[in-house]
Amino acid sequence: MSAFFKIRWGRYRRVAFTGSHQPCPLCGGNDSVVIGRLDRWFNPLVNVLCRRCGLIFLDPMPTDEELDRYYRDQFWSRSQGSDEPTAKTIAKDTRYSRGRLALLAPFLKLGARILDVGAGGGEFLLAARQRGYEVEGIEPSAGYARYCRQAYGLEVHAATLADTDLGDKQYDLITCNHSLEHMRDPLRALQRLHHHLKADGHLYVSVPDLGDPHTWPLRYFHAGHMCGFTHETLVMIAAKAGFAPVERQPFGSDTTLVFRRLPASDANWFRFPDHAAAAEQQWRRRTALRHLLSPRTYWRVPGRISYFLRTRALSIRSAVALKRPQRQT
Ligand SMILES: [Zn+2]
Repeated sequence: MSAFFKIRWGRYRRVAFTGSHQPCPLCGGNDSVVIGRLDRWFNPLVNVLCRRCGLIFLDPMPTDEELDRYYRDQFWSRSQGSDEPTAKTIAKDTRYSRGRLALLAPFLKLGARILDVGAGGGEFLLAARQRGYEVEGIEPSAGYARYCRQAYGLEVHAATLADTDLGDKQYDLITCNHSLEHMRDPLRALQRLHHHLKADGHLYVSVPDLGDPHTWPLRYFHAGHMCGFTHETLVMIAAKAGFAPVERQPFGSDTTLVFRRLPASDANWFRFPDHAAAAEQQWRRRTALRHLLSPRTYWRVPGRISYFLRTRALSIRSAVALKRPQRQT
């Protein structure tokens, strides 16, 4: 029980970023509107929406030093009470990693080289290595990176993408599974990945969908999310960095997309000029009261309970399995 309160307390404590004002990380614009003043745990946190392109980002934006310290030592211990993966996260990530890999398999040849940016506990890289791919990861959390190395013998850099020296390495697939929204300069990150992707390589990106009008308005606002994407802003930032979505998307989601590499930045990257105004209108309507009064909010409850029970059962089973001695065959 004490672990439960430790996690809850860690979440409700405000992250002490000072930060500084930055122009929009996607388009460089300086005209923005405040769309949120609290994070999901009701701590003060200002999120703004760029009036030119529609990207959502923190203002003030934490500095590189503040972010390095936060991700290296605090992110996981605050959110789950441990700086290493728990039985629950291992079980959950193993399951999702296998599903993700199965959907990405058509883009991969045998022996393909994969880089996972934000490798977490290494479950995706482990599943990929078991299927014969060459794997490498980047994970800024010291505890998670150590776990990847010690538990699975994976090659994982314990640093941010900006601080990782990849030399002249080239990859067939680069994956960013819920990591791009944690970067203060996602455009520069994607440009860097473009440089390390083979000409016929693919980029997988999954981010929370800030364009879904039916979620709790504060759901995705927290100090770890520097930027918030919609389908439109994700496609635009990828185009600016030199990527285009593949025609047949395997994941069926607006903000989980596979991209092919273009030779260079797409000059026509600003392809949704009306998006910012539409998004601003949408955010004006997204109030807590409106959300609580909407019947849609409650249609989702049975699905949420079912998800909670399934992940709970999975974590109990995997905790039991971890304690049980391995049978010798
Ligand atoms: Zn912008």
